Amino acid sequence: NRAALDQEIGRRIADGRGFALMFLALDGLNAVHGGFGNPAGEELLQLAAGRLARAMPKAFLARWGDDEFVAIGPHGSGKATLGEMAQRALEAIGQPCAIAGHDIKLTPSIGGACSPEHGTDSQTLLRHADAAMFAARQNGCNRPVVFHEALDTGSQRRARLHSQLRADVERDKFHFLLQPKVDGAGRHLGAELLMRWSPDRIGTVAPAEFIPIAEDIGVFDRLGRHAIRSAARIARELRTIDSAATIAVNLSPDQLSRPGLVDMALEACRAEGADPSWLELELTESALVSDIGAVTRLLVRLRDRGFCLALDDFGTGYSSLSHLRQLPLHKVKVDQSFVKDLQTDPRSLKALEGIVALCRTLRITTVAEGVETSAQFESLRATGIDEFQGYLFGRPMAKEAWFEQLRRMNRPGSAAGHGAG
Ligand code: C2E
Ligand code: CA
Ligand code: CA
Repeated sequence: NRAALDQEIGRRIADGRGFALMFLALDGLNAVHGGFGNPAGEELLQLAAGRLARAMPKAFLARWGDDEFVAIGPHGSGKATLGEMAQRALEAIGQPCAIAGHDIKLTPSIGGACSPEHGTDSQTLLRHADAAMFAARQNGCNRPVVFHEALDTGSQRRARLHSQLRADVERDKFHFLLQPKVDGAGRHLGAELLMRWSPDRIGTVAPAEFIPIAEDIGVFDRLGRHAIRSAARIARELRTIDSAATIAVNLSPDQLSRPGLVDMALEACRAEGADPSWLELELTESALVSDIGAVTRLLVRLRDRGFCLALDDFGTGYSSLSHLRQLPLHKVKVDQSFVKDLQTDPRSLKALEGIVALCRTLRITTVAEGVETSAQFESLRATGIDEFQGYLFGRPMAKEAWFEQLRRMNRPGSAAGHGAG
């Protein structure tokens, strides 16, 4: 298994003589699971594992993921051993397997990397062997690929993310962090839900990178629904710890332009037992350029059903006054760039004061994002901004950690105040 593999890789690295690492995926196994049932898939997997072990008696073999194996050569092995291992694995897996009354042939995709040449730590080596395996699969023929620098490029990464994203959406491999939002006295008013994805061997990918890809390949729908549902669930849970805090969730321009958003959001609330007023929906101005009339009607429907509506990243895009006047907004979140420039650029401060005054007249609550220092907090408070969010009050954190903070603050006698003091 993986733990044993980690240990073995650690031993090889400590030894320092170098070693070969091979990544192998059994293409076609998922189709067997789907077509002949899970027992047939399991049987095939066992058969393949046995064959691999016999074909590479000197290698350490581990199951990595659903249809993936990793093999590492002995101390001092290099490219020659890698080639040999790959050849033997191809032959072993290439033989037909009799499963559920059928002769099934699997096609393995094999990638390899050698230490120290292609990496001196476990993560880099695995990532590089994986990139090579992915290239082998794309080549489509039963030919192993050894890692080389060209595989580490941006387009390879994008291709890798594309295919991994599709698979991970199916497996619900996304989670959320919460970042607190406070008032001028540092009291927690709620938190923003921020999506996270940490695919195997790739490391954490920022939402700014993976959300556009997910929209591109048409799988963001499911993730967006997942986000709203999670927000509703967390908001419900907050009531059990006697907190009136709200949960903000981001809506992408794509989500806003799809029919059925209102029903989907209401259904999420109903299913989780949450009141729509416990949720804040954050939208960016770029969502408003297409058909402002249609978006306005949509927002009015959302508002009428009780949702709180916030305009995100205000000040970066069109920052149109008519948007502020026309849209049924409860909140405006001023973009982080204003906060960054606050100390150095007096015009930033003037612009902020103008936005605050305007929002006051329109009865829109103002929120400042990206507050990192006490000095920024002080200047922002002086402008009359209502709510604040940023590393000063808390980085995006796991739900449990935030709940713990809320509980501590709710305890009788505890003084409210932001973490930085
Ligand atoms: P956003 O809605 O403007 O979210 C705020 C971003 O600023 C977050 O980045 C947050 O981690 C970061 N941030 C918060 N405080 C500070 C600070 O004090 N300093 C600095 N430098 N940064 C701070 P993150 O989590 O990487 O999210 C990026 C964007 O991805 C979000 O921008 C949002 O547009 C989008 N996003 C995230 N989660 C979701 C989601 O569930 N659905 C949709 N549609 N979009 C999402
Ligand atoms: Ca946001
Ligand atoms: Ca923002």
